[in-house]
Amino acid sequence: MERRKFLKNSGLGGAAILGSSLVAACQEKETEVGSLAAKVAEGPIVIATWDVPNATAKAYEILERNGTALDAVEQGVMVEEADVTNQSVGKGGRPDRDGHVTLDACIMDKDSRCGAVVYLQNIVHAVSVARKVMEETPHVMLAGAGAKQFAQEMGFPEEDLLTEKSREEWLEWKKTSQYKPVINIENHDTIGMLAIDANGDIAGACTTSGMAYKMAGRVGDSPIIGAGLFVDNEVGGATATGMGEEVVRTVGSFLIVELMRQGKSPQEACEEGVRRIIAKKKNYKDIQIGFIAINKAGETGGYCIHPGFSYRQYSGKGHLNTPAKSYIDA
Ligand code: ASP
Repeated sequence: MERRKFLKNSGLGGAAILGSSLVAACQEKETEVGSLAAKVAEGPIVIATWDVPNATAKAYEILERNGTALDAVEQGVMVEEADVTNQSVGKGGRPDRDGHVTLDACIMDKDSRCGAVVYLQNIVHAVSVARKVMEETPHVMLAGAGAKQFAQEMGFPEEDLLTEKSREEWLEWKKTSQYKPVINIENHDTIGMLAIDANGDIAGACTTSGMAYKMAGRVGDSPIIGAGLFVDNEVGGATATGMGEEVVRTVGSFLIVELMRQGKSPQEACEEGVRRIIAKKKNYKDIQIGFIAINKAGETGGYCIHPGFSYRQYSGKGHLNTPAKSYIDA
């Protein structure tokens, strides 16, 4: 407004008006720069959904060596993709109801560049394929057979992602399932990760095998920019875990970043994100949703519907697992 006024005044001419307006404009500029500087994080920081100390330690190791937030989040979540004991991400992930492990992932950087893969099979590091989509193609998202073809062209090795443990559990589920996809508050541990590097730049990544025993072809929120993940380097980032359909309906991560832009803290923004879902979902008690967020100042927050969700944080202040506050009390 001030700037527009300044331009108008200077257009009307008059050295005195121009002179004082120039001073005012310079002062305004200084204030803007000053408050932006005040918002920059003190040092590198990484947060991730769930208690994933190996993943956040890997990311922090990269940040400490002055690596980029983009490298940190990619390599951080790769730890979970390769971990067969994590049955919601990458290799060892629970299959769909037909026994196929299908992966969804996305990544977003400081310049709002982003890439995603959905319904990717037989490739462990879906997040790295998503990064290649971002860097090597003019597209944002590749799906199914096309995503796999692209991964093969990029040299990613192929392997069977269904471990014996996940296969046995799936066979057990089939005995009583009536072939219905499972919707419950357990079994969510999609890894969403957000990092700020030494330059103060933000990036995020999100990777999952999706809801256990989902219908064939089902894709959730995790690979959808704005739903499962969103980053705006001027403001902050947010990411989600839990029942993806609800996060998609409310464009959860974008909403949280926009709420932070309007002045809410990461904690307040995550709480509002969950409340929006609850407002539209009568049987919200049957589902779990967890959001985490970080702002440019390195402040963090997390919130969920049911108790039990936590987030890992690694910064100069240490390596912490923080149980998130929940809408429903413990
Ligand atoms: N958000 C994931 C999805 O809906 C599931 C999860 O977090 O476990 O695919």
